[in-house]
Amino acid sequence: MEKKKISSTTKIFIGLILGAIVGMIMYYLIPDNKIKNDIIINGAFYIIGQGFIRAMQMLVVPLVFFSIMDGVRSMGDTKTLGKVGVKIVVFYLFTTALAIAIALTFASITKPGIGMNLVVGDNKFETNTEKVSIADTFINMIPSNPISALANGDMIQIIIFAAICGLIVANIEEKTETIGNIVSEMNEIMMNMTLGVMKFAPFGVFCLLARTFSTLGWDVILSMLSYILTVLGGLGLQLVLVYMLVLAVFMQINPFNFLKKYLPVMEFAFSTASSNATVPINITTLEKMGVDKKISSFTIPLGATINMDGTAIMQGVAVVFIANAYGIELSFSDFMMVIFTATLASVGTAGVPSVGLITLTMVLTSVGLPTEGIAMIMGVDRILDMSRTAINVTGDAVGTIVVSKMEKYIDIDKFKSKI
Ligand code: ASP
Repeated sequence: MEKKKISSTTKIFIGLILGAIVGMIMYYLIPDNKIKNDIIINGAFYIIGQGFIRAMQMLVVPLVFFSIMDGVRSMGDTKTLGKVGVKIVVFYLFTTALAIAIALTFASITKPGIGMNLVVGDNKFETNTEKVSIADTFINMIPSNPISALANGDMIQIIIFAAICGLIVANIEEKTETIGNIVSEMNEIMMNMTLGVMKFAPFGVFCLLARTFSTLGWDVILSMLSYILTVLGGLGLQLVLVYMLVLAVFMQINPFNFLKKYLPVMEFAFSTASSNATVPINITTLEKMGVDKKISSFTIPLGATINMDGTAIMQGVAVVFIANAYGIELSFSDFMMVIFTATLASVGTAGVPSVGLITLTMVLTSVGLPTEGIAMIMGVDRILDMSRTAINVTGDAVGTIVVSKMEKYIDIDKFKSKI
């Protein structure tokens, strides 16, 4: 009898759900003891979960470097690269601004935090965010030492250095044939490694979820329900009103078909809460859908660094929540200011867990809200961090698909095919 194969999407999904259930059982039904805490939660779950994230992180820098260099080399001209660059940055910024506008509108309707009557000074929260000027932000994109950029995983610097190397290799093709081949083969190796590590995803995802859910502060979550539901609602609206609509109108596909194929990436982003760690699986999954790596290898890491629509939504809702909780009235121009600063904050948020909370200080300060309000939302941030990261990476993917279609770097038939 023929054995029915379970798809990797389903396997990861099962890992995710089982992990959440096991974690909740651990939290509610199993009393604290040494075996539960030291051997299971902080032993097995921690080792397998973090081991899996580290294996994925191991791939990010070499994959980004070699795939950009190889992509730019085979694209071969600065004009296409420039066009892709401008289009993707415009898409990323525009959808982020839209995300915050959606969040602010939605939160103005649901009114989270109203009636909490907090007084400034009630909470303690301090951050030591360094201020970097806009001029320095641009200067910092140029790697003064490419090796340290690679060692530190500084994505923008790596993108720039790899793109320059790729362009030069393309320009003096006859003298750089060997390097061209090496880069292309290294790229193949990294892609294969990604697929290999992904085989462990169901177990990794299970352990990550089980550990998170067994240590989550469920009581705090209940008390902050209005805020949590508003953020989740905002994320859902962005998915449906922006991404799915763009795919339906611009790509003329059934967006659910896209979601079905794309789900493993969202699940992975959800369990790791890191856009950076999701870069390899995002590129490989899009490639399987028909999106040429020449574009995605450039736009996905860029998006993981500068495009955080989910984070921007959380920040928009947090602004309204904190204003309501402290009884502070926000004007229309405050809202405009929030759209502006949260878009910048999204660019400045690194694709690693919980950085969105730190950059939130910048947004709150811009409209004179107390940053100590962050102390309240901190306790429930993990679950929202996971959810917003899933939206962050989807935004990168949708932008990539749109630009790939514009530049004709997508196999439309493959993209539209059902799984
Ligand atoms: N965890 C998010 C990401 O990696 C960033 C954040 O909002 O904290 O995309």
